[in-house]
Amino acid sequence: MADSALLLDRVERRYVQGAATLDILRGASLTLWPGQSVALVAPSGSGKSTLLHLAGLLERPDAGEVMVGDEPTATLNDAARTAMRRSRIGFVYQAHHLLAEFSALENVMMPQMINGLSRPEAAKRATELLAYLGLGQRTTHRPAELSGGEQQRVAIARAVANAPGLLLADEPTGNLDPKTADHVFGTLSTLVKATGLAALIATHNMDLAGRMDRRVTLADGLVVEMA
Ligand code: ADP
Ligand code: MG
Repeated sequence: MADSALLLDRVERRYVQGAATLDILRGASLTLWPGQSVALVAPSGSGKSTLLHLAGLLERPDAGEVMVGDEPTATLNDAARTAMRRSRIGFVYQAHHLLAEFSALENVMMPQMINGLSRPEAAKRATELLAYLGLGQRTTHRPAELSGGEQQRVAIARAVANAPGLLLADEPTGNLDPKTADHVFGTLSTLVKATGLAALIATHNMDLAGRMDRRVTLADGLVVEMA
């Protein structure tokens, strides 16, 4: 069987707030396979962002294991986790977080150059990716010169610039109007299918969730499959 793209095995995460302890994840398990898009649909405050941060190696669980491409991460030091995150995981947030002083092209080149690619190599791939996402005429624009939907498509291009096996998105269309959200989401789905990425996408939009391969929710700190 192929390696999983992401495996959460009985992951726990709690936050201590003064005298109170918030048990957000209580042994959550989830497996994502390459080429699979999974919607994470759950109410605000239920732990979606927490789960994505753990999956993306931005935080460590209090218990349990996170495996990326079948590699365990619990015993890795911070440098190894950062290296793994840079090369194998892409993130898209609700806000685009593009660098304002740089063009769309440069924003997509940046993670590749940090990962060791030469400027011409990075520029070539960034150009191809932006064209693929329908932004071939926007490469020299700065973020402020792009619409909200275009900004998110650049953010998607940046997230997949290093050809990660796993894409994590935290309410990526939450700031967009329904029509634009639909378009951005369609772009994202096409990309997932074309590249064999696995994608875990937190969203409140049931229409969009319905178009993904699989839907899961969080209930009492556990991941539960939805119909
Ligand atoms: P969601 O993304 O589903 O809205 P979050 O994962 O952001 O939920 O948060 C889940 C719960 O954990 C919330 O009640 C939130 O207040 C709490 N929480 C998140 N991060 C922290 C933190 N760093 N310290 C304390 N509580 C936190
Ligand atoms: Mg959240």
